[in-house]
Amino acid sequence: MIVRRTILIKLSKDKCDVNYILRLMALTNLAYRGFEIWIPDIPKTMQHHIYGFKNFKGSLVFGAVPKRWLASTWVPLKTLRVYPDGSRKGDGGAPVVFDFKSNVIKLHQICGNKRGFVVEVPMPRWVVDRIKEGGDIKFAMIGLKDNEPYLALVAEREVEPYQPSGYILAVDVNSWRYGIAWGLIKDGTIIKWKSETPNLREIDNLYNLSEELSREYGKLKRLGLDKTVEGKKLWKKIKKLRKRLYAKLRDYAQKLVYRLVRKALRHKALVIIDDMIEESRRELLEMKLPSGLKKLYLMYTKRFVKLLATQLEWYGVPYEFKRLPSTICPICQHELTQLPGRIMICENCGFKAPRDKVPIHWAIKVAKSLNFGQCFLTHEYTRYLRRAL
Ligand SMILES: [Zn+2]
Repeated sequence: MIVRRTILIKLSKDKCDVNYILRLMALTNLAYRGFEIWIPDIPKTMQHHIYGFKNFKGSLVFGAVPKRWLASTWVPLKTLRVYPDGSRKGDGGAPVVFDFKSNVIKLHQICGNKRGFVVEVPMPRWVVDRIKEGGDIKFAMIGLKDNEPYLALVAEREVEPYQPSGYILAVDVNSWRYGIAWGLIKDGTIIKWKSETPNLREIDNLYNLSEELSREYGKLKRLGLDKTVEGKKLWKKIKKLRKRLYAKLRDYAQKLVYRLVRKALRHKALVIIDDMIEESRRELLEMKLPSGLKKLYLMYTKRFVKLLATQLEWYGVPYEFKRLPSTICPICQHELTQLPGRIMICENCGFKAPRDKVPIHWAIKVAKSLNFGQCFLTHEYTRYLRRAL
């Protein structure tokens, strides 16, 4: 099956004409709706290029797989790949050229409405890594996100999921406040179990500080002082803090996904991901946290799941979404009672475990009911996310 991964690369506004990209996006939008309108002052080659994609509606370029923003009107672009040995792949007239000899991506006439206008972007490490793994980048896209120009690259690869060896890696996605718990299972026994949490104090501090400064900024704004030197300085500081906060959460998610995927590959495990966004949401709502922070945690919980599923697919790791409750006894299915310190106890059969370990016990039970021979990748995560969002 064909699997895909995408990356967004921010382009400099100085080099990329935002208005021109906006116009190209509008043309793409029209093409998507089946119209073909020829604009005199936009290069014919670009317009031919866009309308050439008309027949690909619902496919990778105009479709909603694998990222949601693909459904909007980013401009689809063909690519040419020139490898170090001089061999070439792709369309000779493609506006995006990956030059692996000089390690740059050349963007022809997509950043500015001028004949022969080329912008060069350094080759991201990500591209080199995906190619090494047997991937290819047939398509790219350009578009705007928060009025900033971005290049999106779509790597694809043909992969067959492996047959699980008998190991199971269970991943319980909590509300992030309590992190992610994972357990490695072999022959019905939990070999290893761990609950991982981001540095909450650091995240809370960054969040609280940025909120505090935002309130101050709000006051200045009401007094009409937000455009003063002081106001601008404050706004810059807030933006910097938020950026740091998002980067922290993102890094944490990426590193954890990377480790979990490696773990699965090392043991040739079948991965069972707990399907409990709803329960996480409820657990979060019960907590005494600022609502903005709750939203942030929930957002990154979803992102983590999406990232994990995408990477598992990319590396051919079979996975399934299963409900792994943390408040129901995995032995007798009685409601569990929570003791201090997040310890769960079953008053019916005496089962006792830390709350974050209960789902791993459930994974043992769930795994028994799975037919290993039929655990193929199913793009289940797209269906899952549609339900979750
Ligand atoms: Zn019980």
